[in-house]
Amino acid sequence: MWFSLFILTLAALVGHHFWWRAKFKSQSERRASEIEASQRKQQQTSLDAKAQQQVLFNSMLEGLLLLDRSRKIYLVNRAFKNLFGLKTELRGKTIVEALRLHELDDLLQRVEAEKQVLDYEIKLPDLNERWLQVNAAIITNSAGERDGTILVFRDLTRLKQLERTREEFVANVSHELRTPLSLIKGYVETLLDGARNDPAVAERFLKIIERNSQRLDLLIQDLLTISALESEKIKLDLHPVELRALAGKVLTDLNAKAENKNIHLVNELPEFTANGDANRLDQVLANLVDNAIKYGRAEGRVTVGGKQRDDGVLEIFVRDDGPGIPAEALERVFERFYRVDKARSRDQGGTGLGLSIVKHIVQAHGGEVRCESVLGKGATFFFTLPDAVDLTAD
Ligand code: ADP
Repeated sequence: MWFSLFILTLAALVGHHFWWRAKFKSQSERRASEIEASQRKQQQTSLDAKAQQQVLFNSMLEGLLLLDRSRKIYLVNRAFKNLFGLKTELRGKTIVEALRLHELDDLLQRVEAEKQVLDYEIKLPDLNERWLQVNAAIITNSAGERDGTILVFRDLTRLKQLERTREEFVANVSHELRTPLSLIKGYVETLLDGARNDPAVAERFLKIIERNSQRLDLLIQDLLTISALESEKIKLDLHPVELRALAGKVLTDLNAKAENKNIHLVNELPEFTANGDANRLDQVLANLVDNAIKYGRAEGRVTVGGKQRDDGVLEIFVRDDGPGIPAEALERVFERFYRVDKARSRDQGGTGLGLSIVKHIVQAHGGEVRCESVLGKGATFFFTLPDAVDLTAD
């Protein structure tokens, strides 16, 4: 009996031992696989974070460059590569090796000394002038030691071009205003100095003053139109416009001017209806016909015509048989204040802004302008209007 009890106890103990071992084993296996799973999760989270970081960096418009402690490239984003036209792997290279830009070396030295440099501008040695703005700063760790450097690059080229265009515009406007103003001032002074006592001289001087004040007035009107068109303050009042009738009205308005030079005005425009702003299209046609009369040949002919192209676009032209425009000036005549012959334009009371206004108005209608010319044979100005309105549709 005692023996059987002993055997039973022993068997229970052994069973308990194995049960514990098995339980312990499965517990530790479970723990190990839990640890493994958590490590895997951590790895995945860090991979996800890195991928997110890369997506974030690549979505930046600015070029981003991170240098490590030994000033080697650690990370760049897509915008940075695009900015410098780089395709190869840059990690581990120095800036000079990667970009061959010594100005950046100077910048890095300044960042080391000053910890942060803002709005540093560099001009790239490209054929097309390109400007960059760089903001750079030292990255420090929690102990305050230098851990790396971050550089953010912004393309300034467009901004610089706009700045230059604005400066040129202001210089041109000042020049254009100064010429008639100084004439007015000079003649007023001469009149006050005694010329007014001779009625014939006084009359001649007053006529010059009148002509120049009209020029100033025209210039200011054109400048206001240009600035309103450029700032898109002018909203087009779009309606179906009968183009042949509109051209007829413009030619009638300018007939007296054409007769002074014995120029024959011809309306060959078919009965087109376009979707447009009648007042603005009147301004386009009036500017082109006025130019054709001003610069065209005396005893010559000015024709307004057009056709509907296969793609439905309306193409209208104003043609003269005057001296024409040299090939190198064909595109430039649409620039503000560009004149082929400055003296001639001023004599004719031109502001140098007419064709620029024409271009703005046509583009606001979704069309395009261009000029064709054969020297000595004449010039033809074309503009397109995309929409022909079919009035019989309903
Ligand atoms: P402007 O007030 O000087 O006429 P525009 O912008 O209307 O200014 O025209 C710019 C220049 O283009 C003119 O100064 C002139 O030199 C040239 N131009 C325009 N139209 C003609 C044309 N039909 N024939 C020859 N030259 C022209």
